[in-house]
Amino acid sequence: MTAVSRRDFLKLGSLSLLSSALLPFEPDADIYREQPVIYRISERYKRIALTYDDCYLVSMLHKLEAILEQNPEVRITFFPVGEALLNNQIKDPGVWKRFYDKGHEIGYHSYDHANLEMAPPEGVVADFDRWLDALRAVLGVEPQVRFARPPFGIVSRPFLYMCAHRGLVPTIWSTGWGGPTESIVKYTVPKVQPGEIVLLHTRPEDIDTTKKALPELAKCGIQPVTLSRMYLDWIKDQNESPGCDIDSTSFVRTCIE
Ligand SMILES: [Zn+2]
Repeated sequence: MTAVSRRDFLKLGSLSLLSSALLPFEPDADIYREQPVIYRISERYKRIALTYDDCYLVSMLHKLEAILEQNPEVRITFFPVGEALLNNQIKDPGVWKRFYDKGHEIGYHSYDHANLEMAPPEGVVADFDRWLDALRAVLGVEPQVRFARPPFGIVSRPFLYMCAHRGLVPTIWSTGWGGPTESIVKYTVPKVQPGEIVLLHTRPEDIDTTKKALPELAKCGIQPVTLSRMYLDWIKDQNESPGCDIDSTSFVRTCIE
């Protein structure tokens, strides 16, 4: 198939995605079965993703910001609700933009932490759009959003419908570091494996755990990176066979057969 260029393949892929996005809602559509939910990524590299849900308290964001300033090689991923994006922006204008400009990532976690399980699928799409408007407002730029995590970790059909229609990767986690800092740092952190996605919240004990875990991770040579970085690692691994290429923005795999 040498007559078809990579550009043509990407065009075909885009048209296919566009046509599926225009289909009416079908409860049994293949869209659900075709949506992989990630909870960990490639074990090949000594990297993990630290992810912080909800993000209600600006004071905790400030503590996290100070920790990250002390660890400039570390990148993290936030899953804030839309209300927290706006409320923290009021309390500290520019707080989200500072994280974003330093290369930290922000993913969808609903506008107000409602359980999306019983929501109409189009309602979840509207919820994402409302959340994205909040993110645009606090960043002042058009953000790149790749990952979505449902409230309470409930991966429901309406949530997957939204992910498919907005081109997001449904994401949960492989390990949680919530709980008393001392025991988490002593017993849970040392067991972390490359490729793991770690669930945390912007709670005082989780922030304290972060501060104490980072030196332990550094001792093991494990680097916290954004979910995008880990996901791109994995995509590259999938594409090492000759004739395949990957779009680093869309994660679309293109192979010439
Ligand atoms: Zn949450």
